[in-house]
Amino acid sequence: MKIAIRLAAVAAACLCSSVAFAQAQDFSKVEIKVTKVAGTVYLLEGAGGNIAASVGEDGIVIVDDQFAPLADKIRAALKSVTDKPIRFIINTHYHDDHTGGNLPLHDATIVAQDNVRKRLASGGTGGNGSSLKFESKPSPKEALPIITFSHDVTLHVNGEDINALHAPSGHTDGDSIVFFTQSKVVHMGDDFVTYGFPFVDIAAGGSVRGMIKALESALARLPPDVKVIPGHGPLSTLDDVRAYVKMLKDTLAAVSKELKAGKTLEQLKQQKVLSPWQRYSGEFVNSDLFIETLYNDLTGKKSDAPPIKHN
Ligand SMILES: [Zn+2]
Repeated sequence: MKIAIRLAAVAAACLCSSVAFAQAQDFSKVEIKVTKVAGTVYLLEGAGGNIAASVGEDGIVIVDDQFAPLADKIRAALKSVTDKPIRFIINTHYHDDHTGGNLPLHDATIVAQDNVRKRLASGGTGGNGSSLKFESKPSPKEALPIITFSHDVTLHVNGEDINALHAPSGHTDGDSIVFFTQSKVVHMGDDFVTYGFPFVDIAAGGSVRGMIKALESALARLPPDVKVIPGHGPLSTLDDVRAYVKMLKDTLAAVSKELKAGKTLEQLKQQKVLSPWQRYSGEFVNSDLFIETLYNDLTGKKSDAPPIKHN
């Protein structure tokens, strides 16, 4: 989720629906840029989360599908590299800047972790547990993943073993990190982004500690020369991911130390506890919003979102 950026900047506490986010953007101006990454994998950048596409003799597998109004442009962009159809869509998580294309592209088979389907089906409140909040509406059944998995799944297409591995509590509780094994490309979903401090959807089961865990296990399993597609931002490397993990750990430790000294959330903001990491303070998630996120994560404050039933 990054689409809230501009709206959040003008009214961080505003309760905007994801539909409102979508309406606030002029999708007619968006162009989809296609870049070959490695092996069978292309990167598609438009508006919303990055799309990875594996293209080969078996057809197309895409990871994430941005917003519904962009579906025709996404199809046209893919046509520039192949005449084959989109056969599978993997959703890295439920946010509508990554799943909005599910409905118009649903003649493909949609695959995601169990919690993505649950959250798309139910709709609900997402946010950092404090001032960053949004509502999403229940999705129609055609837009829901029809194959779901609890831990991981592998698609065997285009000579690739495309492995989607669940990160139980990172950006949300339904995240997948998707590794194109033969091409050596990974799509990190929103567990790794380049827009500064991350948005962690604490209301939807996300956590900073879980995000660190997910990224550390990805760092341990991925080959050193893997090309990294962030959820948002330009193509990156494992060194970029390492620097990001260090920032997450250091900011978590800084807030944790102050909490142990008895500081309140307001005091943490007043004393600007994250000032050493000021360069990560973005227009979407600024220092104060990330202090709230770390505070809510460490204190177990989960916001007023209704709990989702887990199996
Ligand atoms: Zn997201």
